[in-house]
Amino acid sequence: MIEKILKILAKNEDYISGEEIGKILNISRASVWKYMKKLKEIGYEIESISNRGYKLKNNIDFIDKESLKIENLFFEEEMASTNDYAKKIALENCPNWSVVLCNNQTNGRGRLGRSWEAEKNSGIYISFVLRPEILPQYVYQITLVVGVAIRRVLESLTGLEPLIKWPNDILINGKKVAGILTEMNSEMEKINFVIVGVGINVNNSKFSEDIAQKATSIMLETNKIYSRNEIIRKLVIELEKCYNQFCLYGFKPFKEEYNKYCANVGKNVTTQNGSEKTTGISKGVNEKGELIIESENGQVNVLAGEVSIRLSDGRYI
Ligand code: ATP
Repeated sequence: MIEKILKILAKNEDYISGEEIGKILNISRASVWKYMKKLKEIGYEIESISNRGYKLKNNIDFIDKESLKIENLFFEEEMASTNDYAKKIALENCPNWSVVLCNNQTNGRGRLGRSWEAEKNSGIYISFVLRPEILPQYVYQITLVVGVAIRRVLESLTGLEPLIKWPNDILINGKKVAGILTEMNSEMEKINFVIVGVGINVNNSKFSEDIAQKATSIMLETNKIYSRNEIIRKLVIELEKCYNQFCLYGFKPFKEEYNKYCANVGKNVTTQNGSEKTTGISKGVNEKGELIIESENGQVNVLAGEVSIRLSDGRYI
């Protein structure tokens, strides 16, 4: 119902009365009032004048699920975490390649339980439920393939050259613009499902002090406002293309492109996997998508999984 009310408000440049909205949707004026209250809580700025009705203050870029025309789409105005929602529907046996999307995410997560910041009505929060027929040990490759797809979409939209910070972040001008969180439910040799969550900073205008130095949005980098609908459409198409290619041929066809745009290649980096630290020059990924690090004494380390990476002088990238 909330989405229907939003659509009516967005279509009307002038005020529209609660009575009129109620008539269109066959609900009482009191219900309209309650939904308006909820919309304001979510973050929409709605002007209300007695005798005239309601009007959306800013022409916000709201997500219109019908125009997206995505099959098996689970959309809600607000979700705590699209990955958690996706996990729930996966356990209830939703189809392969179900897409979970929300306008606002209130409790988004990154890897290792870190939180993902979300300015109201500004970012993209989307998760995919996949059931790939691969061994669980190769699931991390999906993160890399999704990174390639996001990078391509952001490049075509902005004309800039986004880079990938192995394994799961996309950067523009050295700052994180998108992140990927891949989670799986599996048995020894069999994957039940994989959830790939993507967060993209689109029209975000600011970040908290903690991450202001390392986070950015495509709006901040280009001074343009973007339609999240358009990006979502492009992203879903590109992701499906890449994922299908991955299912047929594995990571191999993506290796060259990944390394071309991998931000850490040739740099002195330190990686951390739990308490284990590795320092050396990043040589990019091999055909399995593992990061190769060559240390000064010639030792070669091959890394995959929940690894954090920084430049050896401590800088983000
Ligand atoms: P790092 O980016 O620190 O190397 P990581 O790739 O493991 O680590 P994730 O777990 O994927 O990071 O993402 C969570 C981290 O991203 C948070 O700890 C925070 O530093 C940063 N972050 C949180 N929200 C945003 C956002 N909207 N945009 C960019 N970065 C964010």
